[in-house]
Amino acid sequence: MSSDPPDPVTGFVNANDAYARRFAKGDLPMRPKTGVTLLTCADSRVDPAHFLGLSEGEATVFRNAGGRVTDDFLRMLLITQMLGSRRVMVIHHTDCGLNRFSNPVIHERVRTELGLDASDIDFLPYTDVEQSVRDDVTRLRTSPKVRRDVLVTGHIYDVRTGKMSEVPTP
Ligand SMILES: [Zn+2]
Repeated sequence: MSSDPPDPVTGFVNANDAYARRFAKGDLPMRPKTGVTLLTCADSRVDPAHFLGLSEGEATVFRNAGGRVTDDFLRMLLITQMLGSRRVMVIHHTDCGLNRFSNPVIHERVRTELGLDASDIDFLPYTDVEQSVRDDVTRLRTSPKVRRDVLVTGHIYDVRTGKMSEVPTP
């Protein structure tokens, strides 16, 4: 008999079966109730649904490596602005992989560990988490793709304590 470990996705599928059985939110509108758009990291420890107590239909959440402002985030933010969003939170976090490695180091690790060439990709790494938050807040506040009446604030989530704090921005 095979003793392969079970596929973890099987557990997720079972959890979804249970979720769907008790699901009662099929009538939620597309427009998020709070009008808040969140940008944060894809790190598995950083889940705003948990640390901000979000339920379905309350806020739009966009996650990528580092929670950085990218063209793809701006593409989504144009859509959420059309859905009425005028409030954006940029949330970076402690112990982020992008605060550890420079582009050349990441490129070299991709080459040696994956056998792939990513030298054309800017991973948007940073050396100071407060500064990276301020940089992304400034980019949004000055972007021609963001309405001037959109309020943008910056925050840091601490993966050790679960506490989110605001980064003062001018
Ligand atoms: Zn991260």
